[in-house]
Amino acid sequence: MDDRRRHVPRTDVVLADPRVAAATATLGPRIVKATVAAAQQRVRDGLLPPAEVVDAALADLAALPPGAASLRRVVNATGVVVHTNLGRAPLSAAAVDALVAAAGCTDVEYDLDSGRRAARGRGALAALAEAVPAAGGVHVVNNNAAALLLTTLALCGSAGREVVVSRGELVEIGDGFRIPELIASAGARLREVGTTNRVHLSDYAAAVGTDTAFVLKVHPSNYVVSGFTSQVTVGELAGLGPPVVVDIGSGLLAPHPLLPDEPDAATALADGAALVTASGDKLLGGPQAGLLLGTADLVGRLRRHPAARALRVDKLTLAALEATLRGPRPPVAVMLSADVDSLSARARSLASRLAGTGASAVACVSAVGGGGAPGVELPSAAVALPEWYAAALRRATVPVVGRVHDGHCLLDLRTVDPTDDPTLEAAVRAVHEAR
Ligand SMILES: *Cc1c(COP(=O)(O)O)cnc(C)c1O
Repeated sequence: MDDRRRHVPRTDVVLADPRVAAATATLGPRIVKATVAAAQQRVRDGLLPPAEVVDAALADLAALPPGAASLRRVVNATGVVVHTNLGRAPLSAAAVDALVAAAGCTDVEYDLDSGRRAARGRGALAALAEAVPAAGGVHVVNNNAAALLLTTLALCGSAGREVVVSRGELVEIGDGFRIPELIASAGARLREVGTTNRVHLSDYAAAVGTDTAFVLKVHPSNYVVSGFTSQVTVGELAGLGPPVVVDIGSGLLAPHPLLPDEPDAATALADGAALVTASGDKLLGGPQAGLLLGTADLVGRLRRHPAARALRVDKLTLAALEATLRGPRPPVAVMLSADVDSLSARARSLASRLAGTGASAVACVSAVGGGGAPGVELPSAAVALPEWYAAALRRATVPVVGRVHDGHCLLDLRTVDPTDDPTLEAAVRAVHEAR
């Protein structure tokens, strides 16, 4: 044992090896030191010859994600346009450039002309206001849940005022989080009206009173109630008196021709909503954010509430949001409107280049996902492979996440940027050859 310990290469010597030093420059000293320490331990345990410590540490480092963070770039070939587990909306190149530019010191809260403090995020807020002229005021918080929380805190106060909401709209958004519980956690009382499938204006009218802080309308974004149903429109609710807050979910700012049933901010405001809340990283195609659009008075109250500070977004979000709003169409918009003929042509071309691997081009159906447009089916095209490819492709150098369907691994091209087709091809080929 003592003998082994004496032969363990010294840490400073290993770290000074030029190849190890290069790894330290990209990964940082912590990760590299920990990896070296693990290799030294293997020598002490008699599992590794002392002379192989550097090579072993470098091999371990090469198996790690190629940066200091563990999040990895993946290719979304699931056909789910807004995939929550894969980080929802992929950012546009313009948004990525904007957040890289803002990553260092930036004028997020500073006026370069006067050298004085300036309104934080004014560029992003102006872009949002321009995108939805019907809004008298706009604000951005951490996500849509934060937008609802801030709204409830500001409008219900600590007096436990009521939020009137339909029983058909008590939504669980995912991972066990429920909008009614979120509202209740802010100290408000929920006043449920109607039934799961039907609610009438008279139900709301009977519930509204002096205790009502606002009437909430939540878009059932991840389910559909069909059959014997009835709902009350924003316009009808607006006539009741209290402010109507509409959680549209997906973040469409204006109607989308392919998603006629998906609510949008401009229409909700035109119909009489006092406030609209939405996510930034669903159908808007931007960074995680909560958008608040409404009357100047109401939005002003939200901005001044003490909790607004706890929910505010950072400079990276502001940068990416502004570029999403002002720049070229983000990937989500491009994927949604991708033409099925060009997707089929890509699938055929990939399948022919992958001849011999078991790949074939097939028609398939993609989904909007991410809590948006439930039930909407988008005709698409995929490269179909034997099912076992699914797990192997997830372990590729650039992981490719496909969808298992009917005993096949489908790589749905609607959600794959065409510039990633060669990445996908290389991954399939590598898996085939490694078999
Ligand atoms: C997705 C969604 C939310 C939650 O939004 P986050 O931005 O994830 O906080 C809230 N309400 C509806 C209707 C949604 O679809």
